[in-house]
Amino acid sequence: MTQAKVALITGAASGIGAEIARTLFHEGCDVAIADLHAPEYLTELSAEGQRTLFISTDLSQVEQCQSLVERVTREWGGVDILVNNAGFQHVSPLEDFPEAVWEKMLQVMLTAPFLLTKYVLPGMKERRWGRIINMGSIHSQVASLNKAGYIAAKHGLVGLTKTTALEGGPFQITANVICPAYVRTPLVEQQIAAQAETLGISIEEVESQVFLKASATGRMIEPSEVASMVSYLCSEQAKSITGACWTIDGGWTAQ
Ligand code: NAD
Repeated sequence: MTQAKVALITGAASGIGAEIARTLFHEGCDVAIADLHAPEYLTELSAEGQRTLFISTDLSQVEQCQSLVERVTREWGGVDILVNNAGFQHVSPLEDFPEAVWEKMLQVMLTAPFLLTKYVLPGMKERRWGRIINMGSIHSQVASLNKAGYIAAKHGLVGLTKTTALEGGPFQITANVICPAYVRTPLVEQQIAAQAETLGISIEEVESQVFLKASATGRMIEPSEVASMVSYLCSEQAKSITGACWTIDGGWTAQ
């Protein structure tokens, strides 16, 4: 990154988002984090003298999305990098899938990225620079059983990203979606533990026989691998890369 930028990262109290926040901070960005929970690592970053900001936000609420961007803009002058990363999983067959969970999944993983994009775009256009990175999933491209809400939201994010790329392009604003397979984070560790209980097998067996079955490399992805992709997409070298899906899947979709 050539100069200090303001990065707003959602869902950065944990997992992939936390690693993205640390990475962008170490590259010189001022980092604002929006999450339901306060990130425990923030004092560690603040100690280095750069600016960090935690804004307690429920992204399923439209007015909280609006006030989030207003607050970062008021305090730091605008948002240069938006990483729509917050998400959650719910596993159940379609006929049992609760309507309220479906609604919430779309709110957090599709509507909030749309709203935040809408609110940051005018400032990015004015400054003629911007990076919008949406955290998709391998489930933006293929389906798995029993994850209807997640898969619908993550597929929708690809459409939002492509539209953002077209509208932002003339203003040097890029938009991309990152599509990882299983990354070792609390979100996945919970699913592995639940499957181990349901199937009556060990955590290691669930990892190799269920979660990594379609992976050619046969290993879980680390959050730092995803954060490195974010870092590259935010760089000047990536200024012509837009409207694209960046798959990090250990070869899952190569077959
Ligand atoms: P995680 O559970 O570790 O982190 C998700 C964060 O989102 C949490 O801090 C949580 O508090 C926050 N969040 C959830 N609902 C929120 C809401 N309503 N308002 C504000 N914050 C909210 O999960 P993770 O694995 O780091 O996932 C991060 C993103 O990466 C998600 O979008 C997920 O779908 C995506 N992803 C994860 C994997 C994986 O294998 N871990 C793979 C592909 C994509």
